[in-house]
Amino acid sequence: MKVIKDIREMQSISNALKKEGKIIGFVPTMGFLHKGHISLITESKKKSDVTVVSIYVNPTQFSPSEDFEKYPRDFKSDENLCINAGVDIVFYPNGDYMYSDEHKTFVITEELSTKLCGISRPEHFRGVTTIVAKLFNIVNPNIAVFGQKDAQQSIIIKKMVEDLNFDIDIIIVPIVREVDGLALSSRNKYLSEKHRKDAPTIYSALTKAKDLIKEGEKQSRNILDFINKTLLSVPDLKIDYVSIVNMQNFEKVETIGTNTLIAVAVYFDSTRLIDNILIN
Ligand code: AMP
Repeated sequence: MKVIKDIREMQSISNALKKEGKIIGFVPTMGFLHKGHISLITESKKKSDVTVVSIYVNPTQFSPSEDFEKYPRDFKSDENLCINAGVDIVFYPNGDYMYSDEHKTFVITEELSTKLCGISRPEHFRGVTTIVAKLFNIVNPNIAVFGQKDAQQSIIIKKMVEDLNFDIDIIIVPIVREVDGLALSSRNKYLSEKHRKDAPTIYSALTKAKDLIKEGEKQSRNILDFINKTLLSVPDLKIDYVSIVNMQNFEKVETIGTNTLIAVAVYFDSTRLIDNILIN
């Protein structure tokens, strides 16, 4: 496995691979890899000849009050996980040269980026789309794999790819969970023992809500009441939002039909966790 730190070197390797007719699969990450990331890598390997994983904690998607500085980083462990997962290339750029001091260009996917997580994190998706567009231009993949865990991000990236004519297939992989249901996340590391024990309530609220819907409850209002009540019964948990929306445009829906996303964001102290479930 190669570790490439230089942007130009990454570009020329990708160009050479493309000339040889190789299909490049790409998995962008912020590192501190876990089994969720590995499932994206596995999917990329199934669909491509060469898998590139990027590891870069992108400053522009964090607001000044968020956890950019303390975001967990462990390159040695990430490198080993990538080797074991059969990754071909890790793109691990130095933070200082991904954005020059003169950086002026940002990609914004309007409307989609101001809903759900965009309400409490107004700059977040601008940072995500900008870094993903940059990485797409550097890695030049045929396919790129993202996780349903960040459902809003996945849809926004798909829209960006469509609107800006990137010739890249976007693949979305299901959420990988701990045995108790908690969605794997690099941020789970921040949870205290007590909060870690309580956190699976997020997923159990979502699955029980899905059961209620299967049993015939179609009013979003009632499902929202149920999820809010369940979450509020957890000590120390603060709700950022619970929303029932159309999966494509994130508009709130009153009656639950197909293509509905139930999305949740909560805080345990300053640790923000997100989760979601699709109703099809
Ligand atoms: P991150 O490193 O947190 O920015 O995540 C990189 C990619 O991994 C994103 O596409 C995430 O949606 C995906 N991902 C993170 N956690 C999970 C998970 N538990 N299951 C599936 N994909 C995930």
